[in-house]
Amino acid sequence: MKLLKLIALFLLSVIALKVTAQQKKYVMVIHGGAGTILKKNMTPEKEAAYIAVLTQALQAGYAEIKAGKTSMDAVEATIHVMENDPHFNAGKGAVFTHDGKNELDAAIMDGKTLMAGSVAGVTTIKNPISAARAVMEKSEHVMMVGAGAEQFAKEAGLEIVDPKYFWTQERWDGLQKAIKEDSTKAVLDHGNKKSELLGIKNHDYKFGTVGCVALDKAGNLAAGTSTGGMTNKKYGRVGDAPIIGAGTYCNNETAGISCTGWGEFYIRNVVAKTISDLMEYKGLSVAEASKIALDKVGKMGGDGGLIALDKKGNVAMPFNTEGMYRGTITADGKIEVSIYK
Ligand code: ASP
Repeated sequence: MKLLKLIALFLLSVIALKVTAQQKKYVMVIHGGAGTILKKNMTPEKEAAYIAVLTQALQAGYAEIKAGKTSMDAVEATIHVMENDPHFNAGKGAVFTHDGKNELDAAIMDGKTLMAGSVAGVTTIKNPISAARAVMEKSEHVMMVGAGAEQFAKEAGLEIVDPKYFWTQERWDGLQKAIKEDSTKAVLDHGNKKSELLGIKNHDYKFGTVGCVALDKAGNLAAGTSTGGMTNKKYGRVGDAPIIGAGTYCNNETAGISCTGWGEFYIRNVVAKTISDLMEYKGLSVAEASKIALDKVGKMGGDGGLIALDKKGNVAMPFNTEGMYRGTITADGKIEVSIYK
């Protein structure tokens, strides 16, 4: 009898441990951009609005996962919410180029097949993340840019909008401020080789990209990123988001990764693939690998952050800026959303 009691106790504690482990298993992680995001600059209304839409985005993706859909479906559904919301620098609410246009970049990658799709410099596709997915699924290519990508999206049946759809007052004001500051800074920066070489004199407050990594019931990962790039960027500039391996990468054997920040540094450091490689070839955890890759960006003078989720449901969300809009949801549906450090 005593032995039976002991066995029962043992079994109960095993079940309890399993439940706790399951609760800690993350199935989705999102970001809404990193940058100089300070509480003192935020109104309670704005903060509440960010929290609401981050929560809504997580719920949209989680609904897909719960319904047994793929991680690709979850990533697309989640990013749609953020692309359609003007608070983020993706889709509606995207930042402006120097010429006053909204040129959008996006990428998506399937961790199971290592198939990927991306679009860059598009101006008429309502949801660039869906165009990236269409490139992956409906063409033999990985990346399409500009007018060709737009034509392809149209033929794939995606929603095409007038470029005016992306216009928002806040981003327009941001461009005017950036142009003004850059011209003053250009004088102050005279002789600053690094700024001259990069052609960007002032990069602060220009972030706000969105990204998502999801893990579905079948154990497959997917990652996606969507952005308007950086305010005041030059014509034709493409950032890290649509570059597979730089701003976006996903492999079931390692992790799904989506980056945000000063894209030029993420491209030059091939950040997302580096994280995957550190995990695959060095056996590092997702947290260790993410830290190493982001530290390198920081050492070179770049700033930003990233999200990563591995196949076991471990997340990493490092950033070297004041804040990063971010959120997670666990297998049991528990949502956590944060903004500041
Ligand atoms: N990484 C993006 C880019 O450089 C910007 C961002 O993350 O907000 O295009």
